[in-house]
Amino acid sequence: MATPSSDALKRRFSDFATLGEALDYAATGTLGLNFHDPRGQLVRGYSYRELRENALAQARRMIDAGVAPGDRIALVAETGAEFASLFFGVVYAGGWPVPLPLPTSFGGRESYIDQLGVQLKSCDPKMLFYPAELASMAGEAARIAGVEGIEWEAFETRPAPEVPLPAAQTDDIAYLQYSSGSTRFPHGVAITHRALLNNLAAHAHGMALIEGDRCVSWLPWYHDMGLVGCFLSPVANQVSVDYLKTEDFARRPLAWLELISRNPGTTLSYSPTFGYDICARRMSSQTKASDRFDLSRWRVAGNGADMIRPDVMQKFVDAFADAGFKASAFLPSYGLAEATLAVSIMPPGEGIVVELVEETQLSGMSADGDRPQRYRSIVNCGRPVRDMEVQIREEDGTPLPDKAIGKVWCRGPSVMVGYFRDTAATEACLRDGWLDTGDMGYLSDGYVYIVGRAKDMIIVNGRNHWPQDIEWAVEQLPGFKAGDIAAFAITTPGGEETPAVLVQCRTSDDAERTRLRDEIRERVRSVTGMNCVIELVPPRTLPRTSSGKLSRAKARNLYLAGEIKPYDIAA
Ligand code: ATP
Ligand code: MG
Repeated sequence: MATPSSDALKRRFSDFATLGEALDYAATGTLGLNFHDPRGQLVRGYSYRELRENALAQARRMIDAGVAPGDRIALVAETGAEFASLFFGVVYAGGWPVPLPLPTSFGGRESYIDQLGVQLKSCDPKMLFYPAELASMAGEAARIAGVEGIEWEAFETRPAPEVPLPAAQTDDIAYLQYSSGSTRFPHGVAITHRALLNNLAAHAHGMALIEGDRCVSWLPWYHDMGLVGCFLSPVANQVSVDYLKTEDFARRPLAWLELISRNPGTTLSYSPTFGYDICARRMSSQTKASDRFDLSRWRVAGNGADMIRPDVMQKFVDAFADAGFKASAFLPSYGLAEATLAVSIMPPGEGIVVELVEETQLSGMSADGDRPQRYRSIVNCGRPVRDMEVQIREEDGTPLPDKAIGKVWCRGPSVMVGYFRDTAATEACLRDGWLDTGDMGYLSDGYVYIVGRAKDMIIVNGRNHWPQDIEWAVEQLPGFKAGDIAAFAITTPGGEETPAVLVQCRTSDDAERTRLRDEIRERVRSVTGMNCVIELVPPRTLPRTSSGKLSRAKARNLYLAGEIKPYDIAA
């Protein structure tokens, strides 16, 4: 394999001072972004040189329209050349781009307008840009929030007068990134140029980038894994990208793998577990994967953003090994918006490594003599990225030794300066430069293992239970798949904490529903030893974040408010 020239190496692995400087440098080369249609045909090649030229023009238009350094400029983050040039246009104008979600196939019009409206109020932008086809919804959200809404097609026709551009400093805010909203309403995280570029250099280092690497992505740009991992990192690390829109991936997931198959170089491509799951399911056992795909040059198959499921990843290997996919390409990582993106990355080539942890250790209790000990496979999420420290602490802040499960804290130059205009939330998670990630996990020989989110933990009789253990147990029953189940704690009328399990169910037959409910209850009891409230709910009921993660907190709120209506089943 070719090795990069020393100059390329220097520029890849050294931090630029600002994001604008990173694009200035990328524009001197021949690489860029490529946008594909749903069938994977190239519809637009957009070199970093063109991106820079158009971004500079957008910056001049913005300054002409009154944008000043520090102004937030909200952008509905549709994957494409227009968003890319607006994002960098805001950066060159000294403003702070704020990528906001697109409507999803699982949320309705009203909930999209509401969510966008609340996000607009919280980031208080000068303008909201959106594509013409979203003018009705995004325009309404802008009106509600009292923000000027602009169709980006119209903006591009405005003159771009020669005006001086402000000089950004490395400690200025580069952009605001909303967290996914898995445990609460999305929070706007302020990221400086320094933090971003430090994390991008850590990616290049962690993935040991080589000449010829090319990124392939369907991840949305309003989520950090898509924005930072598959747009800003490629710009700063000089890698070309082939994009498929998220909605096109949702309709035809295997188009992702077709695009990878056509990549002449080595591929870097990432997805949360659910993306691998959908592809493995879509592959029928009658088709030979090698007839359709060549995945032999997929060098880094990144996985993160949510729990990594070893069983699902194995199914993906079983489905695509025949097409040359190598299990060693899997690259687990762990990160969060508050740390810019990556906190830990597995060294390339090691694949999925698990440790078996006793259930009693996970529940924080001593062994229960009545029940056989059970184990859960916890995935190794790699070593802390360069410059990042990870510490496991008890609730009261006392550091814990290797292998002890506790709160995961991290510290490093890519940790956020704070949530935008939310001092209370910032103070609740930042302490002496350390960030409380809100996740529980442990360290083992310097590797990070994530067990679950502290807020999702279900505590019954002083014993901790992880919702995913309940959900995964139900999923093993025939007819269910990942994402069909949400478990959370509720308080019974008698004042006791108990787990409730909502299960999406497709059958319309009453007797069949009763049978299923009883089977699920028995299954959960045999796996966890608990009696749970089991409710069957219609398909597509469980709430997801805009980035596709299950939101147990929202499911709980909707259920308690009576907005998720379970099927009526006789006791
Ligand atoms: P919110 O903070 O708004 O409730 P969120 O935490 O899902 O939502 P993100 O910052 O997008 O928002 O996601 C980061 C979170 O995703 C982590 O804190 C962790 O809970 C989860 N996560 C990321 N990587 C992994 C991983 N490898 N294994 C398990 N969980 C992960
Ligand atoms: Mg979070």
